[in-house]
Amino acid sequence: MTLTAGVIAVQGDVSEHARLLLPGGESTTISRLLADEAIDEEIIAHVEAGKPVLATCAGLIVAARDANDDRVETLDVLDVTIERNAFGRQRDSFEAPLSVAGFEKPFPAVFIRAPVIDGVGEGLEVLARWEGDPVAVRQGPVVGTSFHPELTGDARLHDLAFFAEESTA
Ligand code: GLN
Repeated sequence: MTLTAGVIAVQGDVSEHARLLLPGGESTTISRLLADEAIDEEIIAHVEAGKPVLATCAGLIVAARDANDDRVETLDVLDVTIERNAFGRQRDSFEAPLSVAGFEKPFPAVFIRAPVIDGVGEGLEVLARWEGDPVAVRQGPVVGTSFHPELTGDARLHDLAFFAEESTA
């Protein structure tokens, strides 16, 4: 059985409702919608112009070179390969303090049915790992995270993605 849930986006708090109903979104759906609306090309052009992108969780999957899932048409703006839903059912959602390169204090990372990065291209900067696997990376103007930095009110990753000097990686 499939369930279709809608959020009528007339006034505020749309994403808050959507998050509770549709936790995290699915990269399979997101990639299809991006292609249908030709937003995929806009994102690729945006990155090619050197403009910043923060790709989180399902967004990271979509940004990747390869999601190891035929249903996800990736944008290939981040040279990583992905394992979706990598934490399994037991621990599919959790919060953990994460050491991030350049941050003095750990970042409160919320993982929701999160992917892990199982392969990184050369020259790509790994900003954080969880149990050995990369969960935050940067390549030029693109920062990708397996977790949801927008959920904790801690803006350091948004600052890094949008306001920090780009790395040379
Ligand atoms: N599990 C989702 C996917 O594979 C991602 C979940 C999320 O974005 N929180 O697309």
